[in-house]
Amino acid sequence: MDKIKMTTPLVEMDGDEMTRILWKFIKDELLIPFIDLNTEYYDLGLENRNATDDQVTIDSANATKKYGVAVKCATITPNAARMDEYDLKQMWKSPNGTIRAILDGTVFRAPIVVNGIEPCVKNWKKPITIARHAYGDVYKATEMKAEKKGKAYLTFVDEDGNETRELIHEFETPGVIQGQHNINQSIESFARSCFSYALSTKQDIWFSTKDTISKKYDHTFKDIFAEIFENEFKDKFEEAGIEYFYTLIDDAVARVMKSEGGFIWACKNYDGDVMSDMISSAFGSLAMMTSVLVSPDGYYEYEAAHGTVQRHYYKHLKGEETSTNSVATIFAWSGALRKRGELDNNAELVAFADKLEKACIKTIEDGKMTGDLARITTIPNPTVLNSENFIKAIRETMENM
Ligand code: NAP
Ligand code: MG
Repeated sequence: MDKIKMTTPLVEMDGDEMTRILWKFIKDELLIPFIDLNTEYYDLGLENRNATDDQVTIDSANATKKYGVAVKCATITPNAARMDEYDLKQMWKSPNGTIRAILDGTVFRAPIVVNGIEPCVKNWKKPITIARHAYGDVYKATEMKAEKKGKAYLTFVDEDGNETRELIHEFETPGVIQGQHNINQSIESFARSCFSYALSTKQDIWFSTKDTISKKYDHTFKDIFAEIFENEFKDKFEEAGIEYFYTLIDDAVARVMKSEGGFIWACKNYDGDVMSDMISSAFGSLAMMTSVLVSPDGYYEYEAAHGTVQRHYYKHLKGEETSTNSVATIFAWSGALRKRGELDNNAELVAFADKLEKACIKTIEDGKMTGDLARITTIPNPTVLNSENFIKAIRETMENM
């Protein structure tokens, strides 16, 4: 069989620990035998980030702007313990944060739905994708304690020195105060990323805030979404047969619970933080969550939602057997290959991505899985495979298809 050709390179960002081990297995077993893999390789492993003063992360993000599509392995975000472990020159920033800042993107997280790994919410049949705004609000808030009686004000001084003042509260007894902000430009980018991603995945998109209570702050989010939708996306949505729907967050939560899934739920920063943990745990497993960063300019970076699975890596280093789930990392590859194929009109590459995903799902539905899934599956007597044999089982399924 001839290998599938690729015209444009994919930006490949290698990473750390157990996911770095899986990365190589995946390429050797599931990709290189079938595709003339054309990637521009960036080693984002912590050693190389340290050796290059983190320049490699910046270069990989710029390459994503050049080519449009990247696939990323999980990476260590250094903390004090990693400073010693890797003898670091400094506590390098989170690569995901650096890449997100360069691409100005929104992260979309979606569970991989498999029969036998049943969501706690029994009417959820299709994935629910969370789009979380990644700037401002409570994450960039200024806080104060009011220790005694007094008045708190919200003050804005414009560049000409004009002052606007609103009383927050007149304190009779001690309390707390918080000031939040956001920026229209960031909300606009968020809206454009959401609408573009809905179009590219042909799913409805919901957006929810608390605009009835927050009549200026949250209402601005609602207005910006409405305006961008009207002016830039309405016709395209009609053509694609999908919908944009705004509702209050309380109503959204109630509807999500009663829904079948199969849509994108756009959330403000805090709501997205909280709701994505609810959605991922209700769907079954962190190891089955995919994540894609979409920039308002239409650049895509695919990855697994989980980390480097450090505990399994230390077992691996001691020569012990591991049973680490590679599905989310494989879906990062298939997502990136599909998007590359769509952009290049490469139907074979798109078909390969579909087939690879089907093979992962079929392997699990046939009862072959890693330990994390075996613990929660409703499939009787599952076969628990180690990290490498699970990937080999997927290859076998794919070859039989
Ligand atoms: P983690 O890698 O997500 O793993 C936490 C635990 O979840 C694991 O110990 C394991 O549980 C389970 N798990 C996660 N993924 C799994 C998989 N594919 N297969 C089986 N089990 C899986 O989080 P962490 O260990 O707290 O973090 C390790 C490193 O990852 C940190 O240095 C952090 O900075 C980094 N991180 C990177 C990213 C990213 O690059 N996007 C995201 C998050 C964290 P058991 O141990 O019970 O089996
Ligand atoms: Mg959280």
